[in-house]
Amino acid sequence: MAVKELGESHGGIFHAHLLLLDDLSLRNDLVAAVVDKRLNAEHVVHSLAEQYARTMRSVTDPMFRERAADLLDVTDRILHHLLDAERPNLKQLQHPCIIVAHDLSPSDAATLDVDHTLGLVVDSGSVTSHTAILARALEIPAVMGLSLMTTHIENGVDIALDGSVGIVVLHPTKGTRDKFLQGKHLFEEQREALRKAVEAGPCRTRDGVEVPTLANIELPIEVPHSLKANAEGIGLYRTEYLFLNRDSLPTEEEQYQAYLEVARALKPKPVTLRTMDLGGDKFASHVHFARDENPQLGWRAVRFCLARPDIFKVQLRAMLRASTEGNVEIMFPMISGLEELLQVKAVLEEVKEELKREKVAFDPNIRVGSMIEVPSAVALTDALSQECDFFSIGTNDLIQYSLAVDRVNEKIAHLYEPAHPAVLRMIKWTANAARAAGIPCGLCGEMAGDPLYTEVLLGLGVTSLSMSAVGLPAIRAEISRVSLEEARALAREVLKMHTAREIKARLREKFESDGRLAGYATPLHGAKT
Ligand code: PEP
Ligand code: MG
Repeated sequence: MAVKELGESHGGIFHAHLLLLDDLSLRNDLVAAVVDKRLNAEHVVHSLAEQYARTMRSVTDPMFRERAADLLDVTDRILHHLLDAERPNLKQLQHPCIIVAHDLSPSDAATLDVDHTLGLVVDSGSVTSHTAILARALEIPAVMGLSLMTTHIENGVDIALDGSVGIVVLHPTKGTRDKFLQGKHLFEEQREALRKAVEAGPCRTRDGVEVPTLANIELPIEVPHSLKANAEGIGLYRTEYLFLNRDSLPTEEEQYQAYLEVARALKPKPVTLRTMDLGGDKFASHVHFARDENPQLGWRAVRFCLARPDIFKVQLRAMLRASTEGNVEIMFPMISGLEELLQVKAVLEEVKEELKREKVAFDPNIRVGSMIEVPSAVALTDALSQECDFFSIGTNDLIQYSLAVDRVNEKIAHLYEPAHPAVLRMIKWTANAARAAGIPCGLCGEMAGDPLYTEVLLGLGVTSLSMSAVGLPAIRAEISRVSLEEARALAREVLKMHTAREIKARLREKFESDGRLAGYATPLHGAKT
C-alpha cells in the first residue's frame, strides 16, 4: 500500500519497519521479559529498543547505523498503541498550547501550527540550533536545551515560559502568571515603539555611515514580516528548507517560483540566495542521508552539493533564472578553502553555459559570495576575497567550529561564546581582508541580532548585518545611536583583552552606560538556553 502511494524508495521504509517487527530475537526478548520476568510491557519495549539501537549505531556500516532510527520510530509507534495515546499532529493543533518535546528537528519546527503554538520547551538544542532560529523567526517564544525537563512535565499542565531569559515555570501561581503576562505586554509595547521610532530606508550610524540591515528568512511567509520591519533586503535565504518535509526533491520550476517570489517582493532590494545547507541538523528524508557520526563535521552544505551535482545544478539553474526579475545574488555556505570555492564556482559557470546554450535568460553579472564560517576560510580570506563579490560571516558556525562546541548539544551550550577573543579576532581578520579587496563584509549569524554586539561588530569592520526580522527594530535603533569612530575605539580596546569574561563585561558596561539593558538577542523574545 505504502509502496503504491509513495513509490518504491519511500514505501520501502515501511517494509523495513515491518521486518523489524517480525524480528524473531527482538520478539523473543520481549516476550521473555514480560511473561517470565513480569516486567511492564511499555518499559520493556522502550529499553529493548534503546539497547538494540545502541548496538546498531556502533556498527561501522552507515546503512546499518541508519536502521537504528527506523527501530526507534517503530518503537515510538508501538508505545503509542500500548499507552493508547494519539500521536500529536503538530501541523494542526486543536487549541493554543505550549509544545514540550525532548527533541524537535528544524523540519518539524518548519511545519508547526504557528497560530496555535504559544511556545516551545525543548530538552535538546541551544540558542543557535536551527529549531531555535526558526522559532525566533516565527516569533514563537522558546526555551531550549533543558536536558531532562520533559520528564517532569505531564500532558495538559500549566506552564509559563520566558524565552528571553530562558525560564520555564511549572504550575505557575496567579502572581507568576500575571508577572509573565506583564512581561509579554511590555515586550510587545517596546517592539512597537522601536518599530515606530526607526524610519524606513537606509540605516545610518550617528556619524552618518550607512549600515544596511537585512533579514534572514527560512520560509517565504517571513517575507512580509521582513518588509514590515524595514529590512533593506534579504541577507540570507536558507533555501534548504525547500527540501525538507517532502517525499521528493523540489523541481527546478518549484524552486524557481520560490526564489522568484522573494526576488519580486523585495525588488529592487537585494536578495541573497544561499545554496542549500543540508546536513548538520537539517536532513531531507528523500535524499539518502546516512546520518554521520558527527553531522556538524560531516556531509553538509557544499560538500553534499559537490558530491551530488545533479541536485546542485538544478538549484543553481533555478537561482540564475530568478536573477532576471530582481536583485539576486548567490552565496555558498561552509566554504573551507579556495579549492572548494573554485569548484562550486566552476559548477556555476557550467550551469550558466547550459542556460546560454538553451537561450534561457539570467543575469550574467550576478554577484557571488562566500560565507565565512569555517576557521580555515578565515585564514584564507585574502585568497577567497579575490574570488568573491562579498563575504558574509556566519558566526553561528564560526563559533561552533573555532571553539569546538557543537551548536545543537545542550550539554556544552554554556561553552558557546560569541564574545570569545578568538571569535572577535577572526571577525576582524575577515573584515580586514574584505576591505583590502574592496568587497563588503556582512554578518548573518545570530550575533547580528543581539544589540550587545552591534557597536563592536561595526568597530571590527563589519559593513552590514542580517538577522531574523524580529530583531531588526532593536538593531536599527542601536546602529543609529552608535558612532563609528567610538565603535572602532571600542573594538581596539576589546581586541587587547584575552578572556570572554573581560570582553563581555566591557561591552555590557558600554551598552548600559546610557541606560539600556543588555540581554541576549531581541528583548524578551526568542529562544534561549
Ligand atoms: C551561520 O552559521 O552563522 C549562519 C548564518 O548559517 P546557519 O545558521 O544556517 O548555519
Ligand atoms: Mg552556517
